[in-house]
Amino acid sequence: MGFAKGFVDLAIFGGFPGLRLSKRLTDKEWAAMEQHAVEAARRHEQLCLDRFLRKAKESKECIISKYRSWYECRDPGNEFWPPPFDIWTIPAIEDSLVEVLKSNLHHLQGLPHWSSVPDIILDSLVHRFEDIANNHSMSSKMGRLELVPEELRLPSARETLELARTLFVRLSDSSIIRYPRLTDQSDWCWNELGSTVMSDIIILAGHDPNTMTFAQLLEEDIWVECLTCAQADQEGKVVQAVEAVMHCHIDHGADATNKQSVEWRILEGLELVLTRVLNTRIKKWWKCLLCGYESVDNENSVLRHISWQ
Ligand SMILES: [Zn+2]
Ligand SMILES: [Zn+2]
Repeated sequence: MGFAKGFVDLAIFGGFPGLRLSKRLTDKEWAAMEQHAVEAARRHEQLCLDRFLRKAKESKECIISKYRSWYECRDPGNEFWPPPFDIWTIPAIEDSLVEVLKSNLHHLQGLPHWSSVPDIILDSLVHRFEDIANNHSMSSKMGRLELVPEELRLPSARETLELARTLFVRLSDSSIIRYPRLTDQSDWCWNELGSTVMSDIIILAGHDPNTMTFAQLLEEDIWVECLTCAQADQEGKVVQAVEAVMHCHIDHGADATNKQSVEWRILEGLELVLTRVLNTRIKKWWKCLLCGYESVDNENSVLRHISWQ
């Protein structure tokens, strides 16, 4: 019947319609009771699966820590692998757990009720982490790509997401999110205003917004002055190109519904050199992929955080 012996024994022990012990069955008698026998064995199998799935969920910390150990010694590169603190929210983890439990039923049969999930099951799950992480990455990228208007997409999801003009806004707090900080599942939408601002600035600076990646934008270290502020007789606001979208949001109240057009001037020559020198102390945002800790810090405090992990 394809059931592990333990479940057949349990089915016989528990009884089912048509079952008579100590009697050799005729083909006809077996045909009449086969369905009941299969159902009884399947019921015991399911009870066992449910019990161990419940136990696995109770010890989810153990699974998180196994994923964390796996994650720590690998480099996600350009993939959006779920960070360890998020792993339990990925439905594929529970689906894989059920599959692993199903294919290891022979290890589970006969284990006492108080038994925890055997190591062999958890180790089989560890072997699936790479597939789980890569599948999650692929579906996350496709999900983000679908947010990008079709006319702004490049041939691959990765190329599109890496562009400097590809950015998203989180509705709950209006924060701007871009590649590669795209792993968390959030209420994101396409940042149309941000994308237009970035494209305008990239063109003004003599580059192509359809090819310039965010990494290249950072590398170029472009600085701009907001002419709209300057013309309004306010102190000319000078920001790094990557901060320009935030400037539109904060100082011009621009958002998806209020599309203020803002004019920019690219800093060049001595003015650019001086601006860069004066702003060398700009701090960077860091996010720890192991625990989700975020901070504006210098490199030393980031290293200190890592050593505390
Ligand atoms: Zn301004
Ligand atoms: Zn951390």
